[in-house]
Formats: sequence, C-alpha cells, structure tokens
Amino acid sequence: MPELRRRTEISMLETARHFFDRAAEKLGLEEAMVALLRYPKRKLIVTFPVRMDDGRVLHFEGYRVQHHPVLGPTKGGIRYHPEVTLDEVQALAVLMAWKCSLMGLPFGGAKGGVRCNPKEMSEGELERLTRRYAAEIAPLIGQDVDIPAPDVYTGEREMAWIVDTISMHNNAQFMPGLVTGKPKVLGGSEGRDTATGRGGFFVALQLLEHLDVPVEGATAAVQGFGNAGSVFAVNFHRAGGKVIAVSDSKGGIYNPQGLDPEAVLQHKRETGSVVGFPGADSVSNEELLELECDLLVPAALENVLHEGNAPNVKAKAIVELANGPTTLKADAIFHERGIPVAPDILANAGGVTVSYFEWVQDRAFYFWSAEEVDRKLKQFMDRAFRKVWHRSREEKVDLRMASYMVAIERVAEAARARGLYA
Ligand code: GLU
Repeated sequence: MPELRRRTEISMLETARHFFDRAAEKLGLEEAMVALLRYPKRKLIVTFPVRMDDGRVLHFEGYRVQHHPVLGPTKGGIRYHPEVTLDEVQALAVLMAWKCSLMGLPFGGAKGGVRCNPKEMSEGELERLTRRYAAEIAPLIGQDVDIPAPDVYTGEREMAWIVDTISMHNNAQFMPGLVTGKPKVLGGSEGRDTATGRGGFFVALQLLEHLDVPVEGATAAVQGFGNAGSVFAVNFHRAGGKVIAVSDSKGGIYNPQGLDPEAVLQHKRETGSVVGFPGADSVSNEELLELECDLLVPAALENVLHEGNAPNVKAKAIVELANGPTTLKADAIFHERGIPVAPDILANAGGVTVSYFEWVQDRAFYFWSAEEVDRKLKQFMDRAFRKVWHRSREEKVDLRMASYMVAIERVAEAARARGLYA
C-alpha cells in the first residue's frame, strides 16, 4: 500500500533511534551499553537473479539485518514490498529487538526483506525468488541463530518454501524450527495466523479498561484490512465493539452504526477489496484516520500518522497494529494532546509471541491445542500491558516510552550479565 504512507519527516530508523536514545537516557545507560545496543550487529545485502515466467532473468535486492543476539537467537519477519530498503529493514529489526524483549521472549530482533512487487508476480516467480533469497541468507539463519517469519506480503506459503530450501541444503534434514508462521502440517502453531490481530485485541481490551471505556459499544476505525486489521476487527466486533470504518489500499468504507467485519471479509474475498461493501459509505484512507471514534487502529504500513493529520485525529486512543505507523512529530502531538498510544512493539507483539510458541513446540515436536495457545497469548499480552502501564504511571512517561524502557532495560541487564568480549 505505498500510497498510504508519507516520507516527509525523518525516517523510521531515525525515529526508532530517537526513542532508544531517550529511553537510554532515562534509564541512565552507560555509554558502552548505548553503543552496543544502538546499532545492528549484522547487516546482509544480497543481489540475486530470478527467472521470470517469460524467460527473462531479473535481479532483486534483498536484506537480512540482525539487531542484537543478547537474549537469544534473533527473530523477525521477511517482507516483500517495492519500497523495501536497508534503512527500513534496520528500523524494523530494532523494533523487533525491543518487541521481543518487552514480551519477555528469549530472542533478539531481526528483519528481512526483498524489494519486489509481489502483487505483479506469479506464484512460480515468487517461489523462485523465495528459494533463492533463502539460499542467499542461509549463512545467517538457523533455529538457534536467527529465525525468520512472515511479514508484509509473505505468509505460510513462503515459510514452507524456505524450510524446504534450507532443508534440501542440509542433507534433506527437516528443520521446522528454522522459521515460524509455517503451515500447521509442517510444524506451524495453532493460532499463529490470527496472532497479531488477536494480540492487538487483547491490548485494546486492556487499554479500554484502563481508560474506563466499556468495550460494549466502543467504536474503532481500522486502517488496513489484511491479516492483522481484519482479525482485530472481527475480535472487536464479537466482543461487542463497533467497527465503524475499515480500509485497504483501494479505499475505505464507513458506517457509524457499525460494520460486520466477517461480512466485509467475505466481500473482500469475493471482490479483492473492502470498497463497495453494501450499506456503507465510502471513505478515503486519510479521512478514516480523522474519524470520531474510541480507538484508531493503523494496521497497514508505516508513517501514516504524521504532523499533517495528527492534530485532526479525533480518536480517544490509538492501537498501533502496524510497525511504525506514527512519525516522531505525530507522536509528540499525540503526547501533547493526551491521546494514549499503545505502541507497535506492544500492540502488534502477538505475532512474534505465538511465533515463540511455535518455535518451542517445534523444538519439542509436541503441539498445543488452539485453546492453550490462546490462553498463553492472552497471559503474555496482559502481562506486558500491565508492566508498561505501571511503568508509564511510575515514570510519568507515555506508553511508548514506558515500553522502550521496560524492553531496553531487560536487554541491557542481559548484556551486562554476559559482560563485554572486547
Ligand atoms: N513480522 C511480525 C512482526 O513484525 C512477526 C515476526 C515473527 O513472528 O517473528 O512482529
């Protein structure tokens, strides 16, 4: 959804570093620790050929960045998008590092990406691209080193190809723990496909409760109706909330009486978009962000809430299901206006949390029921939310700063315990 984001302010990487610096200062981190944790440990850039269906051979650029393996192997998704850059992947890797730490997972952060347009590629082309990219980053990944997962425009299918490719390079040894977000038949976990939206829903429930807003009748506007946004909307609706607007890259729909997200999902499956859903008015992505509602849920790409629209946001609170949807200036505006923001590293951490469960199950070859996964996911999300909420009250900082402080403190403690091999 390239048209949804804006690149007029500082980059997501600079933003992530800015929040890190502020949290480090508040925590009083020593200089050597700041230097250790501020920059990624490893960055790999690969250029590789892919044979297209028409016989041409095109070259693609891909990346894998590991932020820091202090707490354990690094972890993070792989995105396919025409605007992927090394800078963006570095920013997403550092967000993963704080996200994993905040959730109490034994992982560092990583991210990967390939600059390509998956919407214009055939399944065969995507398979060849995925297998070749996997072969290129093979020296860096492994179940005890760095564990990829799905991200924007990748899913179970791509994860299965990666497992197969790397396994073929290793004497046909089946290696399910190498990536998460796999099909269940290959060692995937129950609940992984819905984990990001479901985790965000648990965070939204906590946030509403702490703001004294009952979920029954509470309103939400959801930008982005992909895996995260649609699952969130369905959960919110089932809990008695009203989803008044949703959108995708083609546009949005609005009904102040509330939409039925399951019916919208069906419409999207049939027509390719939420646009044209019967009984709803159309609304642009920009307008959706400025609707009167209790919760605004950006669930698409980064930088959609910026200095230009943040003063017009009328939501009572924001739940960041996307990574990096709020620019630095917008963040300051929300802080000033007293609009609480459940930050990405908390609100969308359900995905990597169930990835962790998947990895644990793969290592044991013993699989849990959907109920068990869901119960544990709720436990992890609620625990993280409460920690962040208390920290924000204690230190008089907003939820994002509190999340960064909790997360960075844990990584720093681990790094101190390990000591410097310098
Ligand atoms: N790509 C997801 C994220 O940004 C999930 C990563 C994972 O499961 O490792 O959190």
